[in-house]
Order: sequence, then structure tokens, then C-alpha cells
Amino acid sequence: MKYPFNYTKRFKEKDSVYAFDYAHLALAELDELYNDCFDYYEETTSYDNLLKKWSEDEIKEATTSLEELFEEGYYFSKDEVNYQFLEDYNKGLISLPPVHQCNLQCSYCFADQGKVFHGEERSFTLEQVEKTLRFIYYNYMKDYKKYRIDFVSGGEPLLNFDVIRHVKQVSDKLYEESKKPMELWLCTNGTLLTDEIIKYLDENNINIGISLDGDESQHDLIRRDVTGQGTYQKIVNNIARIKNNKELTRHTKDIWGLVVITSKTKSLVEILKHHESIGLKNVQMKIVRLEKDSEYAITKENLPELKQKYDELFDFFHEELNTNSVKYIRMILNDNDFAGKIVRRLLLRYVVQNRCQAGKSKVSIAANGDLYPCDSFVGMEEYKLGNINGELKKENPFLKLTIQTNDPCSNCWARYLCGGDCYHNSCLVNESIYKPDEIICEVEQHVIRRALIYLNDLTNRAPSQHEFLVELLEKRQNMLF
Ligand code: SF4
Ligand code: SF4
Repeated sequence: MKYPFNYTKRFKEKDSVYAFDYAHLALAELDELYNDCFDYYEETTSYDNLLKKWSEDEIKEATTSLEELFEEGYYFSKDEVNYQFLEDYNKGLISLPPVHQCNLQCSYCFADQGKVFHGEERSFTLEQVEKTLRFIYYNYMKDYKKYRIDFVSGGEPLLNFDVIRHVKQVSDKLYEESKKPMELWLCTNGTLLTDEIIKYLDENNINIGISLDGDESQHDLIRRDVTGQGTYQKIVNNIARIKNNKELTRHTKDIWGLVVITSKTKSLVEILKHHESIGLKNVQMKIVRLEKDSEYAITKENLPELKQKYDELFDFFHEELNTNSVKYIRMILNDNDFAGKIVRRLLLRYVVQNRCQAGKSKVSIAANGDLYPCDSFVGMEEYKLGNINGELKKENPFLKLTIQTNDPCSNCWARYLCGGDCYHNSCLVNESIYKPDEIICEVEQHVIRRALIYLNDLTNRAPSQHEFLVELLEKRQNMLF
């Protein structure tokens, strides 16, 4: 075989056939002749069969131009491709939930409103904060050049605001000592944002992400307080209070909208429109991670509906190109949005080998000092990595886990854009961090196909917007954080 390495995935979408080179993230629309020639190179048809349909000259012209591409290493190549993975291994990601307790009772909460931590210490003490951060900074993650702390899930961080303040003081001290910067992010349910707290966050440059699942009916369906009351109005009022306060910086006003997609989600397009209408410019829409018997989970039965919702979303992005606009797609171009991360990687021509950095450059610290790969694993003894007293497990299975080492992923055409399933989701669904959830794989592959076609359309119909988005993302990528 002249070209032993095949990096081609062909697929049909609407009336067109495409060939995707998943090593170089290149896409070509194929006419019938070229599609038949790909059959020939994949050895699913013979030259004699081609001759029954096409003249010798036609075949020659097509195979000559294809082989020019193959000689450059595209689609079929003589040598194996050397990948350049651009994941950022310089940043240590630390998740520090100040308290495992919540004032809401959202029906899909993975932490069961903090109750999964029963019997364990639920709240960080001020003394623990310094000890913990020093351990992370000077021991567990000492080789990193910069850090990010997330006050995040497993509870509502603002229920223990003193810990947030203290983390900020300690991180300033550590910066003075080491000159290694620390970025702080607060992910909150948005109900407890008082003027005093907002002022503090603003003065201390703490980024804010607020959970908001859509309009009032969509959001309040699931995100209610302990008395069963919807929380939408309170949150939207708080967002407006921040947006309208002239004394606050743009940094604080740039609130991120955090959305969980469930079986009850009605429309992704409407969520984006809604969030844009209340001034949220950056949105992350993530698929819920739950056992399949939960009424909110994405299952075999409701999978077609979710795919349909992603179709509507991409149709909407194609439509906005009619007016040379990229306003809405721009909102999701981050590495946490399920569809946006794929478009982002395609724009930056950036292949990945991991779903996330859990257990590698990411760690979650529980209030009792135990270390876990990420928040979702907190309380799962089997996956504990150690504790802040320096007692670390000898084997950390996450370190070796990549799309190349994980069987189903290592043979999947979507791997370099997907990076693998969320390890916690794999555990919930298949009781193993090594076995991806097939339902999510199907959504992922569907979204990748749609994202590829969108990118083609963007490049052809709105080249200046394509350039603008690439520049924007490169600028963000090159910024320290
Ligand atoms: S789609 Fe599924 S099998 Fe393919 S890389 Fe992603 S998680 Fe792995
Ligand atoms: S394992 Fe899943 S929940 Fe944890 S960081 Fe990775 S993607 Fe997120």
C-alpha cells in the first residue's frame, strides 16, 4: 500500500458528502467521482469498478490531485503524523469548594445539594486555607508557572465568604513570595450576591460565573431554593444590579452564564438569545452528568431530541452568517461549552489528547484536606489522590489516561477534537473512568460533524469574520490567563 496511514472520516450531512482529515482538522466536500476515489484508496472498491463508472481521464485527474494532497500528508499518508497537542500544562487548576452545603436544591445536583459529604467536614476553616495552598503551591503542584483557583461546585461558595476572602489574602502572599500569579474564579448560584460581596469581588479582580439555565420557566423548573421557590428573578435582578452599577469594572460586568443541559432543556438557541438579552456575553452550556435512570439524564430515548437541538443551534449560527454576524457563536467559544469548545479548537487548529486536566494539572481539595481529580469525584474514596498532609497514593490512574491510551477513544475518528468523555460521567454510566458513555459519544460526534460544516461555511461566506474570530481566540490564548 502506497499510503499505509489513513486519517479520513467520510460522512454525509444533508445532501453532501464530506471527507474529514482528523489529524490535520481539514474538511473537503466530495463530489461523486472524488467520493468513489476515496472508496478506491480505502480499498472498498477496485480500479475496474471505477472504470465502469468514470473515464480513465476523469479518474486520472481526480487521483492526481488527491495524491498531491496525500504526498503532503493529508487524508492518507506515507508516514505517521506527529501531533502537537496545545493543551496548557503550565497552569495548575485548583478547585476549592469553601463549603459543601447549599441554599438551593437543584434537582440535578451531582453533589445532592452538598449532602453527599455527610459525615465529612463540610466547611474549610481559615487555618486550613493557608496550609492547603502552601501545600499545593510548594509541594503538590510546585512546578507550575501559574495557578487558577475555582470556588466551585459541591455547594454554594458564598455561604462561606470568609474563606474566599482568606484565599485571596493567602494567594496575594504567595504571589509576593514566588511571583507566580493566581487567578480566582467564583462559580455561584447568584442568589447571595450582596452589594458588599460584589464590591469585594470587583476590587479583587475575582471572575464571576453564574448558573442560569435559560428563561424563567426553563430555569425555575430545576433550580429552586429549599422552600421550592424559583430563583430566576433573584438571579436576574442581581445580574442587572452588577451590569447597571457604573462604579464596577468591565471585568466584573463580564459575568459568565453557566448552563446545564438536561433532558428537560427546550432550546439551546433560546438560551443563547435569552442570555444575550440580559447582557451575558460568555456562556458555557454543558450536558448534565447523571445516572441514566434519572429523569434529567440524556438517554438513548431522548438522544435524538438533543441532537435536534444541536442541529437547530448550528442552523442558527449558519443563519447569522447571512448578515455577516458571529455575535452568537462568539458567546460559546470557550473550552467548557460542549459545542463551542469544538468550534474553538477548529478555529485555532488545535488538537487535544484529554477531555480535561482532572488528576493531571487539576485537583480538587475537600474541606477535610483530601485531594481528588476534580470536584465531581469528591467523596469517592476509590479515586482519592491523597491529602494535604502529603500522604499521596502511589498510583494516579489519571496521569496516564489520554485518548491514545484509552481503547474506545484510540480508534475513534473524533478523538482529536473530542478528547474523551468526562471521566466522572464514564464512572456514573459505566462504572469505569476508561469506558466512555456511548450516548455522549454520539452527541459529541454529531456536534463535531456540524461544527466542521459550520467552519467551512464561515470560511467561505464570511472570511473576515473567520479571521476576526481566530485573532480573538489567539489573543485570549496568549494572554497570561
Ligand atoms: S466520541 Fe467517544 S470514543 Fe470518540 S473520542 Fe470521544 S469519548 Fe472517545
Ligand atoms: S472529569 Fe468530568 S467533571 Fe471532572 S473536570 Fe473532567 S470533565 Fe469536568
